[in-house]
Amino acid sequence: MTDRNDDLFSAAREVIPGGVNSPVRAYGSVGGTPRFLASASGATVTDAAGNEYVDLVASWGPALLGHAQPEVVAAVQEAATRGLSFGAPTEGEVELAALIADRVRVGEARPVERVRLVSTGTEATMTAIRLARGATGRDLLVKFSGHYHGHSDGLLAAAGSGVATLALPGSAGVPAPIAAQTLVIDYNDPDALAAVFAEHGERIAAVIVEAAAANMGVVPPLPGFNRLLADTVHAHGALLILDEVLTGFRVHPAGFWGLQAEAGEEYLPDIITFGKVVGGGMPLAALGGRADVMDLLAPLGPVYQAGTLSGNPLSVAAGLATLRLATPEVYATVDAAAARVSRALDEALTDAGVTHAVAHAGNLFSASFRATAPRTYAEAQDQESFRYAAFFHAMREQGVALPPSVFEAWFLTAAHGEEELQRIEAALPIAARAAASA
Ligand code: PMP
Repeated sequence: MTDRNDDLFSAAREVIPGGVNSPVRAYGSVGGTPRFLASASGATVTDAAGNEYVDLVASWGPALLGHAQPEVVAAVQEAATRGLSFGAPTEGEVELAALIADRVRVGEARPVERVRLVSTGTEATMTAIRLARGATGRDLLVKFSGHYHGHSDGLLAAAGSGVATLALPGSAGVPAPIAAQTLVIDYNDPDALAAVFAEHGERIAAVIVEAAAANMGVVPPLPGFNRLLADTVHAHGALLILDEVLTGFRVHPAGFWGLQAEAGEEYLPDIITFGKVVGGGMPLAALGGRADVMDLLAPLGPVYQAGTLSGNPLSVAAGLATLRLATPEVYATVDAAAARVSRALDEALTDAGVTHAVAHAGNLFSASFRATAPRTYAEAQDQESFRYAAFFHAMREQGVALPPSVFEAWFLTAAHGEEELQRIEAALPIAARAAASA
């Protein structure tokens, strides 16, 4: 029997490659028909056939406050009445830049002195890399296997997220000379870091790293690893680009950097990239960093970057409203909900006898089907990932929407209340048994 989702997927595949506008939406690794969403509110999403699900995707992160938070929606509506796009500076973008700079601080440490707004995380990391190259006069970039930083040419080598899900080696269409500018090393491996700098140190412009890896499942940095990165790059005259597109304003008001700084692991990235929560669900992302580096961007400096829709007034309105509403109580609520669901997940898999490990980075978490939490991409791939499809579909049949890949984090929101949490807790044991018999 087909339903509206099946009909839409058939129609979509006639006009959209693979039927989707971003690959992981196609359910490639879990199989079946993707749910075409018609609406979302608070902690739930509703598909085109009218089925409602408790949502643990949160649009892949932005919905920190829950979907369609009324004050955020009102701010966007109000902005829309004043014009959809100007291509000129606005008061709102000054406020948002100042708010970002102010929020990303712990004590005296304040790594964001200037901010530039862009439209996607991909643009933010692409610009950060160009800036690091412009600042250092060097070409090479170091990235970590399994880390995802968007889909620009130099960043798809051994990337996570959809590249991991589809087991793609990278991407066709990337010229070899460009790929050769990216050096890929193992995550959480101090020896690999030392070796790459020993060999190429004078030619490396930057290391880019997810503040905590969350696109190969959640794989937190080992204690001291991010500080070691900062020390190493700075000893060699290179820059550290901390990618907080996923973690920024989600795991802590000052991002994963802030969480670590508060816990005593202090280091200063040169450029930080933001996305997702910072745009409150609208297309907006940002890069921020040291004034002397950021001021190399045009029109002040020689590093070019631009965008017709950069700082779009509706996106800025959504971002401002979201960050203003993201109080310490919101973070406490999301943290508590995440702790509760991850504990229930762990217990359900244990009770069902499924070999697994649940890993955390602040309020982000995921389970891998192996005995110990992975520290590298190779370990993340070395798991019984086939169990996830059965788990995912069993959850969905019980009205809970999970990310359609084992290599993605689970996202809670401030709108997940007692009722939604109980629905998740009730579904988990059944899904765990489905995973056990897969
Ligand atoms: N960096 C990280 C860490 C991400 O998780 C993502 C997207 N999931 C990106 C960059 C790219 O952002 P976007 O999809 O907005 O281009």
